[in-house]
Amino acid sequence: MPLKTKEEYIESLRKMKFKLYLFGERVENIVDNPIVRPSMNSVAMTYELAHDPQYEDLMTATSSLTGKKINRFCHLHQSHDDLVKKVKMLRLLGQKTASCFQRCVGMDAINAVDSTTYEIDQKYGTEYHKRFRNWLLKMQENDWTVDGAMTDPKGDRSLSPSQQKDPDMFVHVIEERKDGIIVRGAKCHQTGALNSHEILIMPTIAMGEADKDYAISFALPADSEGIIYIYGRQSCDTRKLEEGTMDLGNAQFGGHESLVILDNVFVPWERVFMYKEYDFSGMLVERFAGYHRQSYGGCKVGVGDVLIGAAALAADYNGASKASHIKDKLIEMTHLNETLYACGIACSCQGRPTATGTYLIDLLLANVCKQNVTRFPYEIARLAEDIAGGLMVTMPSEKDLKNPEIGHYVEKYLRGVFEIPTEHRLRILRLIENLTLGTAAVGYRTESMHGAGSPQAQRIVISRQANFNAKKELAKKIAGITE
Ligand code: SF4
Ligand code: FE
Repeated sequence: MPLKTKEEYIESLRKMKFKLYLFGERVENIVDNPIVRPSMNSVAMTYELAHDPQYEDLMTATSSLTGKKINRFCHLHQSHDDLVKKVKMLRLLGQKTASCFQRCVGMDAINAVDSTTYEIDQKYGTEYHKRFRNWLLKMQENDWTVDGAMTDPKGDRSLSPSQQKDPDMFVHVIEERKDGIIVRGAKCHQTGALNSHEILIMPTIAMGEADKDYAISFALPADSEGIIYIYGRQSCDTRKLEEGTMDLGNAQFGGHESLVILDNVFVPWERVFMYKEYDFSGMLVERFAGYHRQSYGGCKVGVGDVLIGAAALAADYNGASKASHIKDKLIEMTHLNETLYACGIACSCQGRPTATGTYLIDLLLANVCKQNVTRFPYEIARLAEDIAGGLMVTMPSEKDLKNPEIGHYVEKYLRGVFEIPTEHRLRILRLIENLTLGTAAVGYRTESMHGAGSPQAQRIVISRQANFNAKKELAKKIAGITE
């Protein structure tokens, strides 16, 4: 059955045997863990909305491999329309979860690996593409969530993988066997790793011949023997262990990242999609990063929609919504947010088919998109904090509000507009706090900076794609310079 329900998704994770450490302890029941669960709920939304007729067009697609209806997160983009719908789908999910819903890394990885394996086979006569498509069929058939895993620890940034003092700073092959390979290393800040059925490993940088043992790509069940997960802390995460929901700001949804260790893990050959073809490592990185930089023109915009809405409500509840500077700040937030969306849509419309038919975004515009994402959410968050006022970070807890002795003081003195219950005002401020300083700030702020590559990584692609020589020729012609 290609379209899992939300419940089937959660039950499928219950059957998995992850080796997870959180706060220094092994976690056996991940599905019901209060720290992890909100992030699982976010991914579950990608399953739930696929069954909603209202969103069918965005959330599902017709498989180019089987002709069956599948979740768009398992789809190979076949047209500009597919690329545009992807961005719209991510905006929708950002609006519904106000967090990182994690499943996009797998979608971006399959599209990048699909076209790259085809091109490796063209050059070397290998059979990676066939192997990959066989695995992809299973992904589509089982409606898997896949952790597209790229970022290695990288150690000393001035050294290449093979020059590192510790050879495990990049994932590499340590033994070749008749039936497969043994790999070792780690992937850092892996989004949604524990909410995934499979992990699809890719190299993290362009490589030379000396690094060929590191130029590998493969897929594994996410709970394979030898994979260890260490959960990433988030600001205010232990509030999830408290009673009540108000202080969380967003009690239902969240995101997560973890450090994923591959401790001598066996990978059978049929799951190996690149093996030492170091000259294709750069292509795979550029394509995956390009797709994920496009993604941010959708997901961050959807979360931005919620933050703008929260700021507008905070102004309403303060009685400030008619002030011209407040109106102007909300307009500025919207302008910035829609600029990100415009970039996401533009790089999709300007995409092109690769040799295998899978569509790739326009790389220059996708990198411009992400470069703006490293800046605009910060300004949107600053304006939201400006509108929210200082109470957002000084207000008492939910327990104080509900305390029979002093709750009435909180109720009385923290009321804004008289007709609005104090609790509503506090709830909206907690949501803004969550998005700008709390658990969701990982996704909306720092991930906007570093996710899909840090700002400098986009500037490198922008400089490569800028074609300054063509621009110089334009200027010479206009200026009447002939040589
Ligand atoms: Fe998806 Fe955005 Fe999270 Fe990346 S940051 S996984 S694009 S929601
Ligand atoms: Fe991300």
